[in-house]
Amino acid sequence: MKSIRVHQHGGPEVLKLEDVPAPSPGAGQVLVRVHAIGVNPVETYVRAGNYARKDPLPYTPGSDAAGVVQAIGSGVKKFKVGARAYIYGSVTGTYAELALCAESQVFPLPAGTTYQQGAALGVPFATAHRALFHRGGAKRGETVLIHGASGGVGHAAVQLARAAGLTVIGTGGTEAGRKFVAAQGANHVLDHRAPDYLAAVMQLTAGRGADLIIEMLANVNLGKDLGVLAKSGRVVVVGSRGPAEINPRDTMLRDADIRGMTLFNTPDADLAAIHAALQAGLADGSLRPVIGQEFKLADAPRAHEAVMQDGKLGKIILVP
Ligand code: NAP
Repeated sequence: MKSIRVHQHGGPEVLKLEDVPAPSPGAGQVLVRVHAIGVNPVETYVRAGNYARKDPLPYTPGSDAAGVVQAIGSGVKKFKVGARAYIYGSVTGTYAELALCAESQVFPLPAGTTYQQGAALGVPFATAHRALFHRGGAKRGETVLIHGASGGVGHAAVQLARAAGLTVIGTGGTEAGRKFVAAQGANHVLDHRAPDYLAAVMQLTAGRGADLIIEMLANVNLGKDLGVLAKSGRVVVVGSRGPAEINPRDTMLRDADIRGMTLFNTPDADLAAIHAALQAGLADGSLRPVIGQEFKLADAPRAHEAVMQDGKLGKIILVP
């Protein structure tokens, strides 16, 4: 089968398309024929070798994908051969024509959800769900600022928050991005490249501030976020690409919390609850993952360049 292999850390050019032996499932494992693969920023950090988690070389990148169950090992109960499925995590990596997974890493893909959409669930939608509800404690009636709402996690957060009855303020850095954020259901949309754009958060909340902020670029925004939080407000740090400077008094005045999160830390029971909620949202139509760009598997290097560029809309995927 064709698979992307990384033999040394480096730039996008280290992603090589190679022929490797097809895996076969052992006990408790599921082999999925991959139809679409989700590309996430973290895969570029791991590829470059400057992320806390290092996969031993050589490896096949990727945790997200969707496709059809091709074979099952002994003891597998949840799936039959031919079932539509999406993946979060795998034994062999998902940038490939086949992915070998533990049964717990495979989830049923609801009817009406495309493979491309299924490939957007594992990291982006699950992260958005955990950030809002498990770490952020989002409640119906609250106002959430989704700071970076046009990307993979951000558009998921807008849809999830609206479906849960929150008022959503979303930000985008381009005109097209802001239109996209509005189309996902945001009540208000701001331009995170405009001067003083966060003043509008205070106006939109009658001077109270946002109850919750889901932050995609904390190194740029964390200090400013604390100034537009309501009393007892929470900032959930989803993304950060460097250190940030804050005034701790901004947290004291508001009894505010800054809460970090990494999806990898999710306890198993919470992960199961998150995926049950995502499947329900897909089935009732409140969740609609949007694919912005699609690349062939062989073009994984271009996809890695694209995923680090500003101004994208929704999710980037690879197709084997
Ligand atoms: P993405 O699709 O590349 O989206 C990036 C988002 O950040 C876009 O909405 C972009 O908006 C926005 N952005 C750019 N400049 C900004 C600024 N100055 N202020 C606010 N937002 C800004 O990436 P993603 O998959 O959504 O992931 C977002 C971040 O979270 C990444 O850093 C990723 O590594 C991280 N992440 C963390 C976890 C975790 O477990 N903690 C899980 C998934 C992702 P424009 O392009 O419109 O400017």
